[in-house]
Amino acid sequence: HGLVGLVITRPPPPGANVYLQCPWGAPNTTSISCSLADVMSEQLAKELQLEEENAAFPEVVAVAEGPFITGENIDTSSDLMLAQMLQMEFDREYDAQLRREEKKINGDSKVSISFENYRKVHPYDSDSSEDEVDWQDTRHDPYRADKPTTTPRKGFIGKGKDITTKHDEVVCGRKNTARMENFAPEFQVGDGIGMDLKLSNQVFNALKQHAYSEERRSARLHEKKEHSTAEKAVDPKTRLLLYKMVNAGMLETITGCISTGKESVVFHAYGGKSATEDKVIPPECAIKVFKTTLNEFKNRDKYIKDDYRFKDRFSKLNPRKIIRMWAEKEMHNLTRMQNAGIPCPQVVILKKHVLVMSFIGQDQVPAPKLKDVTLSSEDMKKAYYQILNMMQQLYKECNLVHADLSEYNMLWHDGKVWLIDVSQSVEPTHPHGLEFLFRDCRNVSQFFQKGGVAEALNERELFNAVSGLNITADNEVDFQAEIEALEKMNEDHVQNHGKKLSMFSNDGDPPIYDE
Ligand code: ADP
Ligand code: MG
Repeated sequence: HGLVGLVITRPPPPGANVYLQCPWGAPNTTSISCSLADVMSEQLAKELQLEEENAAFPEVVAVAEGPFITGENIDTSSDLMLAQMLQMEFDREYDAQLRREEKKINGDSKVSISFENYRKVHPYDSDSSEDEVDWQDTRHDPYRADKPTTTPRKGFIGKGKDITTKHDEVVCGRKNTARMENFAPEFQVGDGIGMDLKLSNQVFNALKQHAYSEERRSARLHEKKEHSTAEKAVDPKTRLLLYKMVNAGMLETITGCISTGKESVVFHAYGGKSATEDKVIPPECAIKVFKTTLNEFKNRDKYIKDDYRFKDRFSKLNPRKIIRMWAEKEMHNLTRMQNAGIPCPQVVILKKHVLVMSFIGQDQVPAPKLKDVTLSSEDMKKAYYQILNMMQQLYKECNLVHADLSEYNMLWHDGKVWLIDVSQSVEPTHPHGLEFLFRDCRNVSQFFQKGGVAEALNERELFNAVSGLNITADNEVDFQAEIEALEKMNEDHVQNHGKKLSMFSNDGDPPIYDE
């Protein structure tokens, strides 16, 4: 289903200096073209390999201490700075892991090995000195001693009582040390290979498992580079927001972009673990990022400006905050719908202009829009009655008008219709609420009449059925005039109410204190 672009995964291996360059810098123009078949088979191979590794070595998730960037008003405008902050975080994680490894190897032993020299103190850390960075890459150390000799294939050496088998502790330890060579090149094993170091099986296996999970991380990071087409879809601040969600473990992986619209970009993600026990994060999530470029929102302000729920706030807000309000509106509206039992995405979390909700679909494939799916006439009829029912519920129980209801914003999943895209939904008393409802009715009615549902009401009948109003006009023009008259009546009522209130404070009479 054409998933493109952005892949964000857990932090990259601590050993890899991937973020020394700006990760969001100018895209690499030297793109290598290869055939689809190549890509497919390579991907397949990678997938199979990952699957196998997954089964053999379940990933050890390194838990970062504390949130990785604290404070909301940190300056995030510099890509390089962000990259450096990330690098610092990774280095810290690497060092923590190193300490754990050191502890594990030393155990209670009187003679201990120090890994201190392999710490990755970041140049931007306060207690670092500049000459501490170079020797990290010990694999190319020209002074490195020869590899220790390994045991012969037959599994033993010597004769008679001098025989040593491959189970001999010392030999085995040496062999394990030598086998560290087989870890991925990014995995830094330090001078261990050069020294006469004997690794116990237990330690070796722990290292091996670590090496594998590191390898998988870097593979995923690699993927990120390859799929960077939709990178421009979100700005660095949004990327950081998304990254934090992954880093916090709330999301497992952000796999790709489902939709790029004028006002939003929607991503698919696999859910992670919730910080709180009571909240369960769905296995698959949709992330709707409201675009912070304002051009497209200008003509939408009539939806929100006149929505009394947001009235007080609107005039004082800057454009960025208005975008967040769209996201907030979608969240509130989805919650209302959820409470009424209308099939719709379930809200997971809202962070600024990024709304995370449950994914409607399966295995990264979003449920098709009603406009894209071919239903049997039986299902078509079923869908119609379900929508009629949902529109009534939306109006009566949620006190909402969808205001962008059409076959584009209804998904067919699990044998029923799901409503999405409710950021612009308003209450029926909104100055244009009834007009929006009439437009919704027209879309729904036309879609199902064209789709061959004989029972489908026409738009006027549908409007009355949903709103409970009884507008009798039998043609569209008169019907619409009556709707507007109703809206005006309602407005006048509000206006009068407002005038009356302002009169009290403006006409010179002593102010009325009603507290
Ligand atoms: P827009 O305002 O850009 O139309 P939508 O909320 O309609 O935003 O989302 C755009 C597209 O993304 C939808 O048409 C749908 O295909 C997909 N989408 C949005 N939310 C979900 C979700 N929760 N589950 C699956 N797909 C979704
Ligand atoms: Mg939509």
